[in-house]
Amino acid sequence: MLETTVAGSLPKPSWLAEPEKLWPSWRLEGDALVEGQQDAALAWIKCQEDAGIDIVSDGEQFRKHFVHGFLETIEGIDWQRMTTMGIRNDRYDAEVPTVIAPLRRPASVHGPGAKFCRDNTSHKLKFTLPGPMTICDTIADGHYGSRPDMAMAFAELLNQEARELEALGVDVIQFDEPAFNAFMDDVVEWGVDALHRATEGLKCKTAVHICYGYGIKQNIDWKATLGEEWRQYEDFFPALNDSRIDQVSLECANSKVPLSVLGLLKDKEILVGAIDVATNEIESPEQVADTLRAAMEFVDPERIVACTNCGLAPLPRAVAEAKIAVLGQGAALLRQELG
Ligand code: ZN
Repeated sequence: MLETTVAGSLPKPSWLAEPEKLWPSWRLEGDALVEGQQDAALAWIKCQEDAGIDIVSDGEQFRKHFVHGFLETIEGIDWQRMTTMGIRNDRYDAEVPTVIAPLRRPASVHGPGAKFCRDNTSHKLKFTLPGPMTICDTIADGHYGSRPDMAMAFAELLNQEARELEALGVDVIQFDEPAFNAFMDDVVEWGVDALHRATEGLKCKTAVHICYGYGIKQNIDWKATLGEEWRQYEDFFPALNDSRIDQVSLECANSKVPLSVLGLLKDKEILVGAIDVATNEIESPEQVADTLRAAMEFVDPERIVACTNCGLAPLPRAVAEAKIAVLGQGAALLRQELG
């Protein structure tokens, strides 16, 4: 009961990439880069294992950014044609590449990284992929002419990738969909269908991570406009509860989401975010246990997995390490209390 995991990204060591950045430049290249990524993944696997985290992640050490890391080797994308686009419904501008031809995945993207992690931990392994809607909100369309059509094309490629990760022994495949909170109607209209396409035929656990974004200034400013209660989840949770996705990962620590909305996901396992990623302050184990306990009012403990609110990538490395340790301690505290 009360397994533990992390949402996904973890900081890159400063010898591998520029620290505390969302789109960091690598500090190594060629074979040295691959070796560095593997060493960094090993360090994070050990950190998670030491903290008692049950389902560990590579911390996304093999990719520069959670969306563009998947896109780098996909054919049909022009990386010279960069477009400045207001993303997450114009919350902030990003320089994004452009889709200019039918999309194709000529080779595995994350297979080698996943295999490396599988060979180096006996814990359950989670691997994250960007969700189709979030990809489409982080790239310009110069070919498909319709966002749902482009999302389905990406979903097809994500499905090829996910099947390969599953075959390599990955236990949980999570799709990151921070865009869900920005386009609530689209989630119901085509977002869940695109997720279904991406997860078709998978037998491993599938998860979707929805959040109010990394703890960067643009997101913190946006959250200030959302009012006293953040009820965005409410609009599409019924559709998500009817979906075939097994787990939903949500921001619950220091969040203004009324936890009663979790009651709308009664058929899902909930990855309860009990670690705030928007502050360097380290939670106490009691605070982590409090957040999990509050979620238990609306979710049976059997369906709760203790998690972080979001990726920890932009945080200083030592802060992320301490937050992972306390996540493990807080869950252990509550487990003990529940007997
Ligand atoms: Zn997130």
